[in-house]
Amino acid sequence: MGERLLSFAFFMLAFAPTLARASPLAEPNPPSDAIVENAPRGSERLRKFALALKTLGIPAEKITDFADFPDAGRVSTSDVLGLAKYIDPDGGLRRYLDVTASRITLYPNFAVDSKGQDAPDYSVATGARSNEDSPDLIRNLGRVADQVRANRPHPLAGLRVVIDPGHMGSPFWNDKDGKFVKFGGKTVAEGELTLWTAKLLANELEALGATVLLTRTTTDPVTTYTWDDFNPSAQLANYYYKSLDDWMPKYLALSDAELVRRLPSAPEVVKMKGFSGKVYLFLQEDMNARAKIVDAFKPDVFIDLHFDSQKTDALQSSRDDVSVYVPGGIRKNETGAINQRTDGLKHLLDVRRWKQSARMDSLLVNQVAKNLGLPALKDPNAVQTAVKVSDGVYARNIYETKRMTGSLCGFFESFHYDHVREFPRLTTLDRSSIYHGHAFRYPSRLEAISTGIRQGLLTYFQSFQAD
Ligand SMILES: [Zn+2]
Repeated sequence: MGERLLSFAFFMLAFAPTLARASPLAEPNPPSDAIVENAPRGSERLRKFALALKTLGIPAEKITDFADFPDAGRVSTSDVLGLAKYIDPDGGLRRYLDVTASRITLYPNFAVDSKGQDAPDYSVATGARSNEDSPDLIRNLGRVADQVRANRPHPLAGLRVVIDPGHMGSPFWNDKDGKFVKFGGKTVAEGELTLWTAKLLANELEALGATVLLTRTTTDPVTTYTWDDFNPSAQLANYYYKSLDDWMPKYLALSDAELVRRLPSAPEVVKMKGFSGKVYLFLQEDMNARAKIVDAFKPDVFIDLHFDSQKTDALQSSRDDVSVYVPGGIRKNETGAINQRTDGLKHLLDVRRWKQSARMDSLLVNQVAKNLGLPALKDPNAVQTAVKVSDGVYARNIYETKRMTGSLCGFFESFHYDHVREFPRLTTLDRSSIYHGHAFRYPSRLEAISTGIRQGLLTYFQSFQAD
């Protein structure tokens, strides 16, 4: 649910209930590579884009804060290039980078056009033999690992964890985001499955001493906006910032006069003014609110909980498996915004942090799969836009993986709740528990996930290596 999905898949998810009526919003944009060929290059490209934003009444994007980026001399160029196949599989981000043995530089435009013209957005001296990013995080993980190996009564004391239960789950929001399955008169909402699982997991980890924060504890959105008072301007601006390497180039190829005349009535602009555009922007705002909670809490580990499904009104018997996403998988049309490039570069430079995520997630996803009696997803082509890292683990550029630039990150697709065997197990709330004094009922099937993540996390710390 994020960056690439911005263009089409997220629309398809967000507008699933209306797809049956052949919503024009389901139309994917044409491939961006063909467009880029006709678009202006060099300083003309950025001048034209500035004109486009001005025409739409959108302020220029502010440069991102680089305070958390690795220090000079703590980055290994060869390690970074080794990680690029997972973070930047198309080379889209590297169009903006000048990478030498001694320095990595991020430019505001394609590096080949920027060099000698534009001041860099960011530059770091490289030269470490191996990457030494994220020293505070690695040190704290090592400290927790010592506690786990010493069999302390609260082995996860000092570990900060944010759990994000994906989506919302109330009928009001299910109607808008389409994240539910209704079959045989029963409804299973993804946002309820994720919330129950998050509470179970929080209980598991708090019992071991971890400090755990849930981004939400009800089926309401996380953002403080309501549907009626929503101000979309921040997310609308980001929608246009991201368009530079996506659908905007075909308009940048026009003359200035034609650009100013045609852009305000372009389909990509008009669709943001309708109901489905509001749904899309609101859901982006809600994910942004979750990411801001993470920014403030500064966790060591971020777990996003989701479940998979295909249609809102049918079951399927073809797929039921478990997978988890780490940051990366940035596609060529996902580098247009400064925030996309800087978050992507942070993941690329944080080689140690990324490797810890991949190692942790491999243990978590395989333990969860084992507990559920399901396979971990193995097909390298199963997840469009993702890059397989190991069985069950894929690098994928979705909103929350992109934004998790300071912690370990695991984004779970825990099983397929529209599967003929899963759905009936989820319609009966056969167990009850208490989270922070509030009782709740849930389907017992979900315990396999919360116990699996707890067991996998302990195995990760037992086998922790700082490299
Ligand atoms: Zn989901």
